[in-house]
Amino acid sequence: MNRKKRESKEDLPANFSFGINDERLKKEKNSARILRNSQWWKRQKSSGLCHYCHQQFRPSELTMDHVIPIIRGGRSTKGNVVPSCRQCNTEKKDHLLMDWKGYFKSEEP
Ligand SMILES: [Zn+2]
Repeated sequence: MNRKKRESKEDLPANFSFGINDERLKKEKNSARILRNSQWWKRQKSSGLCHYCHQQFRPSELTMDHVIPIIRGGRSTKGNVVPSCRQCNTEKKDHLLMDWKGYFKSEEP
């Protein structure tokens, strides 16, 4: 009888998405892979600069980060991907999770 009852609204399921279906997700991930292999991306990384903390890294240490995550409707386009160090990438993810509900609200018409 010690089953904890919680408001389900507080816990979004891991596969929660904003109407993004698997097909779209797959397509965007594929686009991201292509973009990651492009000369354009190599140029972006060659500066070694992290988009978020503006610190200098080795190009190989930078990862591709979607400013608007695919799951939230972002696309794998040049305008939506930035070089990010691993630390910022991780911190941004945490931040997004905390702001998850805020984003949800603001995206309502
Ligand atoms: Zn950084």
